[in-house]
This record gives sequence, C-alpha cells and structure tokens, in this order.
Amino acid sequence: MKLTPEQKQEIADQQSQKNQTKRVTSPELEKILYEALPVLDHGFVRVVDYMGDDTSIVQSARVSYGKGTKKVSTDEGLIKYLMRHWHSTPFEMCEIKYHVKLPIFIARQWIRHRTANVNEYSARYSILDKEFYLPAKEQLSAQSTSNRQGRGELITGNQADEVLKILKDDATKTYDNYEKMLNEKFDGTIIDEKKSGLARELARMNLTLNSYTQWYWKTDLLNLLNFLFLRADSHAQYEIRVYAETMLDTVKKWVPITHAAFLDYRVGAVHVSSKGKKIIQQLVKGEKVNYENSGLSKREWNELMAAFEFKEKIV
Ligand SMILES: Cc1cc2nc3c(=O)[nH]c(=O)nc-3n(C[C@H](O)[C@H](O)[C@H](O)COP(=O)(O)OP(=O)(O)OC[C@H]3O[C@@H](n4cnc5c(N)ncnc54)[C@H](O)[C@@H]3O)c2cc1C
Repeated sequence: MKLTPEQKQEIADQQSQKNQTKRVTSPELEKILYEALPVLDHGFVRVVDYMGDDTSIVQSARVSYGKGTKKVSTDEGLIKYLMRHWHSTPFEMCEIKYHVKLPIFIARQWIRHRTANVNEYSARYSILDKEFYLPAKEQLSAQSTSNRQGRGELITGNQADEVLKILKDDATKTYDNYEKMLNEKFDGTIIDEKKSGLARELARMNLTLNSYTQWYWKTDLLNLLNFLFLRADSHAQYEIRVYAETMLDTVKKWVPITHAAFLDYRVGAVHVSSKGKKIIQQLVKGEKVNYENSGLSKREWNELMAAFEFKEKIV
C-alpha cells in the first residue's frame, strides 16, 4: 500500500486534530482513527468516523436516560442476551464509517450488501490510480474440484510465473491504452497537445477488474456484523475476507463486549435443524444413528458431523 506524501499529510492532520465532545468515544478505536490499515497489495481500510459504543446498545435496549447500567458486567450480560436472542435494533444505534480502497472485482461482491451508505470514487471525474491487485504466490490456487465456488491446490513453478505475468501484462497494457485514449498520463501530463482525449467515463471501460477503486462505506453495527459474518467466513473469497478480518479488528476496538458476544454466539456457534438436533441427542446418548434414515442430505449430514467433530462422515 503506497500513500502519496500529500495523503500521508492529510491523515496526519486529521489525527492531530482535537475536538471536544460530550458523546461517548471508544479509546482504543480513537487510537487508530483515520489510519490507513493495509489490506492486499495496494488496498486499505480506514475508520473515518463512528457513533456510539457498547453502552449505547444497552442504553437503547433499556430506553434509558443515562449511560445504560452502572456495572460493566450487567451491560455485558444484556449484550450477550440481545445477541443470543437475535435482537437487532439496539445494535443499529451504533454507526461506523470506513474509507476503503479495494480491487473492482471485490467491490462487486461488497456492494451486494445493500444496507450501507456508499459513495464511490468517480472514474467519470478523476483518473483511476495506476495500481492493480496481483495475488501473492501463496494465493495463486487452481480451481477447486469439490467446490465450484472455491480454490484448490496451489499453482506453482512455471505455471505460477506465467499466470502472474499475464495478470500484470494485461493490466499494464489496458492501463497504457487508458492513458492513450484519455490523451493524459496518470500524473496529469498531456500526451498530445493537438488532440482532445476520450471522456473519462468511456475510457475506463477497458480497464481490468483488478484495478483499484475507493469508497466511503457507512453502516450500522447490526448490518456490519452481518457483513462480517458472511465475509470474514472461510467460505468467502480470500480477497474480501482479508478486508473483513481487518474490519473485525476495528469492531473489537470499538465495541469490545459486542465483539466478544458476536464471536461466541454467531461466528463460533452452530445452527442445527430439528432433524440434526435429534441425531446429536441420539449420538450423545450413545445410540446408533445412520445417514440412510436420518432424513438429511449427504452434505447436511457431513456438515453436522464436522461441526460436532463426530467421525460418522460419509463420502
Ligand atoms: C460465500 C458467498 C457466496 C455468494 N455467492 C453469490 C452468488 O453466487 N451470486 C449472487 O448473486 N450473490 C452471491 N452472494 C451474495 C449474497 O447472496 C448476498 O447478496 C450478499 O451476501 C448480501 O447479503 P445480505 O442480503 O444479507 O446483506 P444486505 O444487503 O446488507 O442486507 C442485510 C439484511 O437486510 C435484509 N434485507 C436487505 N434488503 C432486503 C430486501 N430487499 N428485502 C428483505 N430483506 C432485506 C435481509 O435480512 C439481509 O440479510 C454470495 C455471498 C457469500 C457470502
């Protein structure tokens, strides 16, 4: 991740400002406010603003006049209860705003999360950065044979070098043509004074999807946790997962009690169907169970066995 000296100065200026407020703040999050946390080769996540903390959730759940309850342990008990029982609106009382720089193909997955407010860098107005995402060698995997939506074994040796070369050459070539069509270099130099360049809104269409875009992304804590549940999960594509993991870390600094409850009751929890529950009850009692009369599909059965680390996996 490279920031220009001007961008670094802007962040330093923001970090040195001191504002007085009567509102609650999160000391740990304040420490990293505005900082560009690196993700992938040129991307980042920055927390640029937030509202509320753990006590705001308690306060709204109780519709209280003050800070919520007096004791942290009581707040913790209530937040755990709310998380366990899928109460939603108290978590909507906290808001957070991120500035994110990410490859366009990841932005397409991200934008499916409709419950956020988004403002994206305008490639009609400005020239896109001359930066492309190139996977690290340890992320260069073959298509999975068992999961159409996943990655399999690592590609290595000459094949890996060739793939990386293609990715780099294609991105560079289309960017060079982008500048040619614009009749303007990334740094603002005009290529041919006698020509007028193609409109930015048109010239961009030829760029590769690993080009980086940027946006401000604001959401409430409830929808952020939904995003993180789906995107920090092992089923999510690595390139969006690393953003989600960085953001999960900011949630820990912002609302530590909610973060712990989220890990416990959502991320680490197992959702079991009624048929699945019956099978687990039988296994715990030492009774014999079998897949054939379980009423579960092969996939469901294997997921259930894996979740509770039972050996009765079928292939
Ligand atoms: C591993 C993975 C694989 C995926 N694969 C595909 C794929 O192959 N193709 C594809 O198209 N998408 C795919 N998606 C995207 C997925 O289907 C969702 O669109 C995306 O994750 C956004 O989730 P969301 O709707 O919960 O989020 P948000 O849009 O933020 O919504 C949050 C919640 O608000 C509620 N909500 C929001 N809008 C409405 C509405 N209009 N009506 C009712 N309730 C609403 C819902 O409860 C929703 O869960 C994939 C996602 C993941 C994580």
